Amino acid sequence: MKTVDILGAPVASLTLDEAAQLVNQFVDEGRPRQVVTLNPEYLYRAQADRQLMRIVHQADLVTADGVGIVWAARRAGQPVPERVTGIDLLLRLAEYAGVRSRRVFLLGSAPGVAEAAGRELVKRYPGLVPAGTHHGYFKPEEDEAIVAKVREARPDLLFIALGAPKQEIWGARYLAELNVPVVMGVGGSLDVLAGTVQRAPVWTQRLHIEWLARLAMNPKRWRRQLVLPKFALLVLYQYGLFKSSRNVP
Ligand code: UDP
Repeated sequence: MKTVDILGAPVASLTLDEAAQLVNQFVDEGRPRQVVTLNPEYLYRAQADRQLMRIVHQADLVTADGVGIVWAARRAGQPVPERVTGIDLLLRLAEYAGVRSRRVFLLGSAPGVAEAAGRELVKRYPGLVPAGTHHGYFKPEEDEAIVAKVREARPDLLFIALGAPKQEIWGARYLAELNVPVVMGVGGSLDVLAGTVQRAPVWTQRLHIEWLARLAMNPKRWRRQLVLPKFALLVLYQYGLFKSSRNVP
């Protein structure tokens, strides 16, 4: 698999289809693997947080989640084909899970959301086997019990919706113990599937301004999105604009 280095993170240069194919292969192979859908907020934080950087290096697949990462790859002179978001990859994998009767565990989001998301997945992909659910508002003391619950459910795929980077940290910490072939963080995807949160309209995705639409739909996100201009400046500093102008005699 070809990866490109973006601010120290190895990001897969794959289309959504190729990424889904690879993850399906991970399920067939069976040994525990972690998939990270990398967004700019995570990558920015990882610059100053060794644990977050270590997680992306240990992950078996890191995808370019969002237009910010795709843009950064282009600035770095190593373009990736397209963005591969958590929700899009989840849907492709669920489709395949329907065909192959694969077991899916949904962990995270508010009580009731994972169950509703599971029902929606079964409705869309009838062969998919719901292996279990658990909400995402648990204390660290409950970790072991939840790991045991997931293990006993023997899922093929575990989707974790605790928000980034919590879901990646949790997945990495318990990867071996969980013994699930594919563990992947999916952010707010269960809310979207359950219908508690609307995904931004398709036209905003096409115009690459889904982030702006998400901000408009949920103004509380502004604080998190403050990191985006800092991320952009860092990318420009590393790969473009500022560097070349400094080189001008
Ligand atoms: N969440 C959770 N436990 C927590 C914090 C968050 O289950 O302790 C859930 C939250 O309910 C939401 C998801 O994690 O469903 C995070 O969604 P968000 O849109 O913030 O994540 P993003 O997609 O931006 O990573």
